[in-house]
Amino acid sequence: MSANILDGKKISAEIRTSIKEEAEKLKARGINPTLAVVLVGEDPASKVYVGQKEKGCEETGIISRKYTLPAEAAQEELLTLVEKLNEDKEVHGILVQFPLPEHISETAVLTAMKPEKDVDGFHALNVGRLFSGLPCFEPCTPKGVITMIERTGIDIEGKKAVIIGRSNIVGKPVAAMLLARNATVTITHSKTRNLPEVVRQADIVVAAIGKPRFVTADMIKEGAVVIDVGINRLPEGLVGDVDYEAVMQKASWITPVPGGVGPMTIAMLLQNTLKAAIINKGA
Ligand code: NDP
Repeated sequence: MSANILDGKKISAEIRTSIKEEAEKLKARGINPTLAVVLVGEDPASKVYVGQKEKGCEETGIISRKYTLPAEAAQEELLTLVEKLNEDKEVHGILVQFPLPEHISETAVLTAMKPEKDVDGFHALNVGRLFSGLPCFEPCTPKGVITMIERTGIDIEGKKAVIIGRSNIVGKPVAAMLLARNATVTITHSKTRNLPEVVRQADIVVAAIGKPRFVTADMIKEGAVVIDVGINRLPEGLVGDVDYEAVMQKASWITPVPGGVGPMTIAMLLQNTLKAAIINKGA
């Protein structure tokens, strides 16, 4: 058996087309969806991510406003900018690209942001609402993971899902979102005992570890859905956390790296920005 491929490029392109249509409808009503993207310092990966987000906005008719601060900018300066964007009626969503330089507290920046403009879904209020099953901005990568699982047409309810990795940005929110869809969820991490045995029971596996090809075919149950969030830069190029070629022979559905969850993350950010534009219209 060879798995069906969940093509993140294709799925995200479809989503971007519908976002563009929605953005046009909003514009016809006099609302110009606008995302403010803040970049502090010169981190090369962050610059690439910010560039991808700007390009996504451009393609879908969302206005992106970029703000750059030097790496040595004081925390106060960034907080002042966030507060200014909070009050700017023309800005619907705010995204501060992480990681920030060490002297700036990411928590302080998130706390300063209006939760209703937090399109990354990292503000504690949005996190709390997500875990309480209340409406909120869902974080972009986890939202992309769920969208992909839903695209398989497989009913999540009652399935056993195993998540490898418990970070605040991927593992934990994916768990909350699968639980909300009535999966039976296990979160595993570096201290989990007998990890392969736990993963082997899963109908749905989400790998978010940051270790190249960590998930091998012997850990996968025949027919499982395998979502690979990992991005690892090796000399031969980008690889995921899953041994793609081997796992492909056992899974029913699998995401490639690159071209899997990565493009979905940007599409979900654009979706959240549209939602913010509707919530914050003229606010
Ligand atoms: P973190 O480093 O924050 O978390 C990694 C998690 O993996 C931790 O919970 C850690 O456990 C767990 N882990 C590490 N080693 C093992 C092991 N041997 N066995 C079991 N669990 C282990 O990573 P992120 O969640 O931020 O990112 C994970 C991956 O996803 C990275 O490759 C990252 O680049 C990628 N990523 C991709 C995105 C996309 O858009 N496609 C977006 C965000 C991330 P413990 O808690 O015990 O230390």
